[in-house]
Amino acid sequence: MIRPKGWRSLAAAAVLMVLAAVPTAARAADKVQVVATQSLLADLVRQIGKERVEVRHVASPRFNVHYIQPRPSDVRALRKADLYVNAGLDLEAWSDPLVEAAGRPEFFRGAARSVDVSTQVKLLKVPQTGPSRAEGDIHLYGNPHYTLDPRNARPMCEVILAKLKEIDPEGASVYDANHQAFLAKLDAKLAEWQVLCAHCSGKEVLSYHDDFEYMADYLDLKAERFLEPKPGVPPTPRHLQELEEYARSGAVKAIVMPTYFPKGIAESFGRRIGVPVVTVAQNVGEVAENEDYFAFFDRNLQVLAEALK
Ligand SMILES: [Zn+2]
Repeated sequence: MIRPKGWRSLAAAAVLMVLAAVPTAARAADKVQVVATQSLLADLVRQIGKERVEVRHVASPRFNVHYIQPRPSDVRALRKADLYVNAGLDLEAWSDPLVEAAGRPEFFRGAARSVDVSTQVKLLKVPQTGPSRAEGDIHLYGNPHYTLDPRNARPMCEVILAKLKEIDPEGASVYDANHQAFLAKLDAKLAEWQVLCAHCSGKEVLSYHDDFEYMADYLDLKAERFLEPKPGVPPTPRHLQELEEYARSGAVKAIVMPTYFPKGIAESFGRRIGVPVVTVAQNVGEVAENEDYFAFFDRNLQVLAEALK
């Protein structure tokens, strides 16, 4: 039998298309479609929604979440989504333009299908007199990096749970059960992390950006000085000189930063003041060992506990 050249790959492709199309069509119809701004938020939605949700995130954890550039595929995903889960405040400055581009007013801030997980979180550094640029062009509504305190999973997940139950009431009991299982694991982990990090209490670190405040609050660490002179403003020689003079007191035990800031600047400064640089990830998947919410904190807290021994 003579077959046209390439038939084998064409036939294989056709089979794959059929195999892929059937479950995808069923899945898309059945599952709640969620777009989350960040991988950590996407993971929390998965923990509660499990098999009833299909979740994707916009920001790659390898880049600074303040400044990422959404892709056309993100706009297309948002057009078809049921829920848009976001961090609120001004953490994701690109979020409003993304929602505008998708043409989905129900995802605007405060609208019915926007899930702003900050709403029940106790925020730090909130300006007393309303949004302020006194500290730079970002963090105008307070410190938006609240995901770095694992205690904040509880208020964040309550908001996610309530919205999932609202738009998919048939799954309410499943969501409740998943939520309870998540909280039980969270409580067990919080107890474990308390033991792991007990010796960190009272110690001081320098943070590259003001994104460590919530973890410092959680661990009773001091993190009030930053390599950036203001949030979003790169370190200057004069500012580093002042920090070096401060660090001479010996109070500073480490420099903490996520992966996407210039490590060379932090490492050379760390050598100048004689302290290590610790990579504290800001998002799930930012480093190899933190593929879900619990692994994320396991790894962050292990490296921090080790550096502050
Ligand atoms: Zn920030």
